[in-house]
Amino acid sequence: MWDGLVIGGGIAGLMAGIRAQERGKRVLIVSVGTGSLAFASGVLDFGRVELLRQEEKHPYVLLGETAEKAFSYFLQCCPSHHGVWGRTGMALTPLGTLRAADLLPEGLDASPLTHANRIVLVVPEGLKDFFPEVVKANLQKQFISSTIQLKRLRIEEFVDWQAVGKPIPDTVYAKFWCSEQGRETLKNLIGEMTRKMVSDSETLVFPGLHVAACPEVEKILAQAPLPVVEMTSFPPSAAGQVLYDRLRGRFKALGGELLIGSGVERVEVESGQARRAIVKSKGKEISFTAKAFVLATGGFFGRGIVASSTEVRETVFGLPLYVPPEWSESSFLGAQPYAYTGVEVDHSLRPCDPVTGKVLLENVFVVGRMLAHWDPWVGHCGGGVSLTSGFLAGGLL
Ligand SMILES: Cc1cc2nc3c(=O)[nH]c(=O)nc-3n(C[C@H](O)[C@H](O)[C@H](O)COP(=O)(O)OP(=O)(O)OC[C@H]3O[C@@H](n4cnc5c(N)ncnc54)[C@H](O)[C@@H]3O)c2cc1C
Repeated sequence: MWDGLVIGGGIAGLMAGIRAQERGKRVLIVSVGTGSLAFASGVLDFGRVELLRQEEKHPYVLLGETAEKAFSYFLQCCPSHHGVWGRTGMALTPLGTLRAADLLPEGLDASPLTHANRIVLVVPEGLKDFFPEVVKANLQKQFISSTIQLKRLRIEEFVDWQAVGKPIPDTVYAKFWCSEQGRETLKNLIGEMTRKMVSDSETLVFPGLHVAACPEVEKILAQAPLPVVEMTSFPPSAAGQVLYDRLRGRFKALGGELLIGSGVERVEVESGQARRAIVKSKGKEISFTAKAFVLATGGFFGRGIVASSTEVRETVFGLPLYVPPEWSESSFLGAQPYAYTGVEVDHSLRPCDPVTGKVLLENVFVVGRMLAHWDPWVGHCGGGVSLTSGFLAGGLL
């Protein structure tokens, strides 16, 4: 029997698994997919925790005091990220504007730009969803006293892609820089930039590069005489994938087991306790028994909640959901009420009946986007709530 079975391997499920394994528990994570981390930017936003705690029923009302501990714990798990609790950093969006960032891969830290006299924007030919003129204009608006220059980069490796009009995703470029040919090109480029440097306050902005993707690239950039600032990208993002690989690697290194590509169909319940998860894999049904379960199936995006014209349903336990009275709001980019749909929980993250408040399952902990009463986009707290609730659940397993 497993000590813990985590259903869903996004950031919330992985954090729960990592912390429980570190506490000496035996954990199995079963996940259909890799979760939204690989789509996201690699930046984790906590939002304004104290302010959000004032919203009735926001998950931070239950989790707020744990958020700082989860933040520090994450930095131990992923030393290539950085952040200081209570001091928000900055990263560049794919359009070259600045955005707040609480925990971010070191290479994405945009603070060197504030001291740069000259900003050189690298333009890797064919990079997908990259608009150099827009980025240049936005950089200029934000750093008015800096000179912005473009440095076009033609990579032989991708000539065939361009010949057939195929854009090169950020993830493919990131892999290229890790190859021998990529590292050589990078060294030559840094050498050329160094020779052309006119002052010591120059900065390179480098889309499609992700230092954290490989230690050799990290070494090359550590020796560069000018700071190199990476950019976040539209999904899928190399920085998000690197973070996913790191967390998964850590869970496995601690002895945790992962079953990816299979979903939990249902969990059998006896006397208010979840007992057995039924997993469908390659046409067969396999059952796993566990002492406790974590429901980390990611809400609508992860398909832990599905909606049809007749119902809104939690897919594994059939738990009752909080569903807001209004479903959507007409203003574009406005707060969308449906985002608040989810499972209500008690202080120990156990699912409750939204009408009576009664705990429904004693040994199930609900985390991440499955929780009710929050909107990651409006509160800028997607990573923070998911990370903190996963961390808490890992301590309860
Ligand atoms: C495109 C995008 C960009 C984002 N950008 C940011 C950002 O910049 N900063 C930030 O802080 N947050 C961001 N977020 C939000 C943040 O990533 C999410 O809040 C967080 O990842 C949710 O994590 P989760 O673990 O709850 O769910 P998910 O990451 O969705 O993981 C759920 C997992 O459960 C699996 N699953 C579902 N049903 C089953 C089942 N029956 N059996 C087994 N497995 C199942 C799914 O396959 C999935 O792998 C972004 C989200 C998206 C989608």
